[in-house]
Amino acid sequence: MKVDITDIVSNENKSVTKEVEIDFTSFDSKLGNFPISKKTPFTLQLTNEENKHVLIEAEVDVTIEIPCDRCLTPVDTDFHIEVSRKFPIGDSSVPEEEGGNDYVDGFDLDVDKLIYGEIMVNWPMKVLCKEDCKGICRKCGANLNLQTCDCQKTELDPRMAAIQDIFNKFKEV
Ligand SMILES: [Zn+2]
Ligand SMILES: [Zn+2]
Repeated sequence: MKVDITDIVSNENKSVTKEVEIDFTSFDSKLGNFPISKKTPFTLQLTNEENKHVLIEAEVDVTIEIPCDRCLTPVDTDFHIEVSRKFPIGDSSVPEEEGGNDYVDGFDLDVDKLIYGEIMVNWPMKVLCKEDCKGICRKCGANLNLQTCDCQKTELDPRMAAIQDIFNKFKEV
């Protein structure tokens, strides 16, 4: 969703609140595409501070389905994001490293891009369906939380295999 900020940018010390929401239904990134399972409209507070910059404030709750690191079961992961950002008025060509941004384009504030960036920096290092998730069997792909598999039993330990070779040799003699 895009918000027209002409009013705020051109009126010194003006402050407005707007009800907004994000339009994207999936968080698509280099890590993969993750469905958004829950989102609600939220309030965006925009304040022109002495015609120098605009302060953006918001609190956003969004839930994203992220697969468990071990067993790949989708886990509803809650993000509570508190936005507090400033962008300079007048010069939108400032590069991001120097305080510029990619969410303001002329007189439009792109709420989707703003929140996308916030989700990115809040992305969890690790997602587990439960602390003691047993993961999936590397051999047969069984979800070991739901079932057991026989791979462990049939898979021979190399040392055991050596012993078996010797045993077989004796049998041959
Ligand atoms: Zn798991
Ligand atoms: Zn298995």
